[in-house]
Amino acid sequence: MSGSTARLQAIEAVTNYHPVTAPLSFSKVSATEFFGANVFNKTVMKARLPKPVYRSLLKTIDTGSVLDPSIADAVAAAMKDWAIEKGATHYAHVFYPLTGFTAEKHDSFLSPDGDGGALAEFAGKTLTQGEPDASSFPNGGIRNTFEARGYTMWDVTSPAYILENPNGMTLCIPTAFVSWTGEALDKKTPLLRSMQSLNKHAQRILKLFGHEKIDTVVSYAGPEQEYFLVDRHFFFSRPDLLGTGRTLFGALPPKGQEFEDHYFGAIPERVLAFMLDAERELFKLGVPAKTRHNEVAPGQFEMAPVFENANLATDHQQLTMVTLRRVAEKYGMECLLHEKPFAGVNGSGKHVNYSLGNATQGNLLDPGDTPHANAQFLVFCAAVIRAVHRWSGLLRAVVATASNDHRLGANEAPPAIISVFLGEQLADIFEQVTNGGATSSKSKGTLTVGVDTLPNLPKDAGDRNRTSPFAFTGNRFEFRAVGSSQSIAGPLVALNTILAESLDFIASRLEPAVAGDATKLNGAVQKVLAEIIAEHGSVIFNGDGYSQAWHKEAAQRGLPNLRSCVDALPLLGSPEATALFAKYGVLTERELHSRMDIYLEQYCLTVALEARTTIEMARTIVFPAAIRYQGELAATGANLKAVGCVFDTATLDKVTALVKELQDGIDTLESALGHHGGSSKLDHAQHLHDEVLPAMAAVRLAADTLEGIVADDLWPLATYQEMLFIL
Ligand code: ADP
Ligand code: MG
Repeated sequence: MSGSTARLQAIEAVTNYHPVTAPLSFSKVSATEFFGANVFNKTVMKARLPKPVYRSLLKTIDTGSVLDPSIADAVAAAMKDWAIEKGATHYAHVFYPLTGFTAEKHDSFLSPDGDGGALAEFAGKTLTQGEPDASSFPNGGIRNTFEARGYTMWDVTSPAYILENPNGMTLCIPTAFVSWTGEALDKKTPLLRSMQSLNKHAQRILKLFGHEKIDTVVSYAGPEQEYFLVDRHFFFSRPDLLGTGRTLFGALPPKGQEFEDHYFGAIPERVLAFMLDAERELFKLGVPAKTRHNEVAPGQFEMAPVFENANLATDHQQLTMVTLRRVAEKYGMECLLHEKPFAGVNGSGKHVNYSLGNATQGNLLDPGDTPHANAQFLVFCAAVIRAVHRWSGLLRAVVATASNDHRLGANEAPPAIISVFLGEQLADIFEQVTNGGATSSKSKGTLTVGVDTLPNLPKDAGDRNRTSPFAFTGNRFEFRAVGSSQSIAGPLVALNTILAESLDFIASRLEPAVAGDATKLNGAVQKVLAEIIAEHGSVIFNGDGYSQAWHKEAAQRGLPNLRSCVDALPLLGSPEATALFAKYGVLTERELHSRMDIYLEQYCLTVALEARTTIEMARTIVFPAAIRYQGELAATGANLKAVGCVFDTATLDKVTALVKELQDGIDTLESALGHHGGSSKLDHAQHLHDEVLPAMAAVRLAADTLEGIVADDLWPLATYQEMLFIL
């Protein structure tokens, strides 16, 4: 326990908790009634738009056809009327800059009417295009600061919605954000481009399998969000949490997560009230929040939505993060989205469940029950395996942030080595494919790839494996290395693009081999599958990803183990990745390299901020507490000596040694922080990683050891025990 008053205030907040708003009743207004109530969705569009306009808009949304600019005025007018009826006074183009956050610029609907009054205006052009001053958003050298012009462009595929505030409503329009030269400055533009490319190549495969009516193939994402909640009294009392999102100090409490009594346990009243409120807000915005539960660490929770089209899921994920944080405040809690707010207990990830499909062919990663469908499934599944193996470094790079390094490189779920978990059954099938599936297909006659000799796949083709960074879970892959605070756009862009490349590769093999003769398909598929597994099967691993043995074996298999951002980020701009993104029209070389530059910069900024915070807290909070206790011990010793008693100085000696360690540590850290690691950003990042982070750890070690010795009433920082358990 600490001597901080925050403790007493937090205890008070918990013990005296009572609902902060009038109780929300789902029986008075049912969830189905308000789900999507604030969304300009297809139902609203259909009711409010002239038929031809609606049909044209729908065509763009569903088939990705070019937006007809002539309909913009009609849509804008309907949108404005709907929003004003709902109480909106302003509209905002919402966009997703490379900081990973959500940005919005609000404008009032009102314009002066020339007679001293005002009228509400919202023209088609205002809907389709905005022009925020883009100069303060990171652009990685794409533009100079004086070339501030940036455009936001209406993304028709992600519906507009109304954001509520007790004092007014705002109509929000999801947009893509580009420079005046048309280069992407955001997370959405490449996502939309990558989905287009994925569709193109998935279509080629489906055509080969004889499908005639094929809807646009999209990728789906279901992101599971892990987060911590702490009482706000603690949050505000800790400069590290407030400024960096994680604790830079804090000894492990006597009780941590070892009893596993929190995982899936009963949810505390205040937390549940918060969850219900947050879900209700999300429902209104059309975000299909579905699952909630306690997570592994004390104070840690999870929420998962129903999966959606990857672009929409990404926008909804951004809304989810904003909503969780906003609503938690209402309940006196801070929602921590950081990957590792507390050292020594479980970190937070964002497991991105990923699949692809459409309405006509369904989920293309569903194993199905007919051999024919299985063959098609195996092609898509093999495409994923090949993609992940070929581009494992890239996948590691797109989840590389300073905060995620604390999870990925640090013997915690999941390891930094990117491998694929298939489950025994599927792994076995692929093995059979390589070991002469062709022979068995002959003896069986019609069949596809030897697969019809196998029993039908059960829906869950494998057990679960929590240690795998990329796991097949029945009808989708789960990318678990994604960080909890990260935008899921980057990982999805990478997945879509590498899968498009794999499908392109397979289609380019199959098309000439089949050459219009469908009977040749099975043989050709068998051949390409066998080839893929021979070349890329080494990425498949069904064992324990945490074990040392796996680290060794992975190295033998040639799988990269990129422990930190500094190792991983350069792969984003490798010549191979540059060619990949350019070829599939997702990011130009300039766009890609600007991103790598920005992410390196963010790494440097983050570590430097943490280091400065460490120094300040160590000097002004930890050191004074330690010497006060040291003084108390010394005075007691002197007093005892004066009256002829013996004083055991062991504790005093320990404190004295630790104070010295702390001071030396601060000096080392300060000098490491004081110089640049070289001329390039990468050099500097490397320096921060190699010199500054270990120096921070040394300061922390001295401070945390002191925490275990110094008198409780003198220790000013809220402790782990308090922050994790007082909820
Ligand atoms: P877990 O048991 O892995 O924690 P959850 O139920 O918390 O699973 O989350 C699973 C997520 O996977 C949900 O968001 C769910 O909608 C999503 N999901 C289910 N099927 C698919 C699919 N075909 N494609 C993408 N995501 C999916
Ligand atoms: Mg889950």
